[in-house]
Amino acid sequence: MTALAQKRILVTGGSGFLGSHLCDRLLDAGHQVICLDDFSTGSASNVEHRIGHPNFTLLEQDVALALSPASLAVDQIYNLACPASPVHYQRDPVRTTRTIVLGALNMLDLARATGARILQASTSEVYGDPEVHPQIEPYWGHVNPVGLRACYDEGKRCAESLFFDYHRQYGVSVKVVRIFNTYGPRMQVGDGRVMSNFIVQALRGEPLTVYGRGQQTRSFCHVSDLVEAMIRMMNSDAAFTGPVNIGNPVEVTMLALAERILCLAGSVSGITYLPAPADDPARRRPDITLAHRHLGWTPSVDLDCGVAQTVAWFRHALAAEACDGVHGRHGSDAARSGDTALNVDPSGVHADVGRVSP
Ligand code: UDP
Repeated sequence: MTALAQKRILVTGGSGFLGSHLCDRLLDAGHQVICLDDFSTGSASNVEHRIGHPNFTLLEQDVALALSPASLAVDQIYNLACPASPVHYQRDPVRTTRTIVLGALNMLDLARATGARILQASTSEVYGDPEVHPQIEPYWGHVNPVGLRACYDEGKRCAESLFFDYHRQYGVSVKVVRIFNTYGPRMQVGDGRVMSNFIVQALRGEPLTVYGRGQQTRSFCHVSDLVEAMIRMMNSDAAFTGPVNIGNPVEVTMLALAERILCLAGSVSGITYLPAPADDPARRRPDITLAHRHLGWTPSVDLDCGVAQTVAWFRHALAAEACDGVHGRHGSDAARSGDTALNVDPSGVHADVGRVSP
């Protein structure tokens, strides 16, 4: 890559599930990457295989604290820092709102001061429990502003409004992607989201915890597809600001997902039904016409192939954890460093994942 083509790119939340895959892709493309994370939900082990790489800098900092533009002259900013699992973001809701809103303000100020282009990782949660299905970008949503999910939903809605105000008022070059449910290697065992819960339960021989009657739907996008879309969006025509939906439109009920995972994991765990959480959206599926038209993007990883790969990854992570119990090492470190007898791929991205043609 020529010096001109190489960019200095800041990824906030860079050691999280999505952020670490994004850092990998950007480094592999030859860019300089600054990964900012306070490790509150992200894990250092997700990026440890990059420590020492000449183009990689790890910065331990809370995104809600102001940054000096002089020390961080960058060309692009991907703003991902935020707890994303309902279990995590509801644990300290005030902190969640603070992270989202102050983080957005700080990063927008940095973009304004440095002239960087900035991409916001927004969410399908801005649609709340949607009355329009599938969800299209012009739909304003149906969010309970005082409910348990509001810290995340309203925080992300406020961040979107800040992005568009900085764009209109100060001319900052902004991009907003609305991310639908995403899964893949490097989800944490204790993440709390449905995909990791079901897979871990299936592998441990515990019943899969289906909330409600399991008739609620979600649409799951493999992390590799998501990262591809984010990079395309960042580098698209400046006039295309979004918001744009990024997700896989194949919709499944949670009961069907549980049954699929039991089958793919070869598990006889069975299913248990627990009460549905408050304000749980009944249906979710992205309309991705806009992403296809402007970015030429459609997801390519089939759900069965992606889930099978993720099951394999969790199988190694859990085995390494068990090994850790015996040998006193941090389990996920062992899994990711690939130095156990299991020899897991440290990056979690090179395992086989089947693709279907777009
Ligand atoms: N869910 C479930 N069992 C679990 C975790 C989640 O049935 O162990 C359901 C949850 O009620 C929701 C869906 O799965 O309807 C997706 O939940 P998740 O926490 O993954 O993310 P969300 O899409 O709600 O942000």
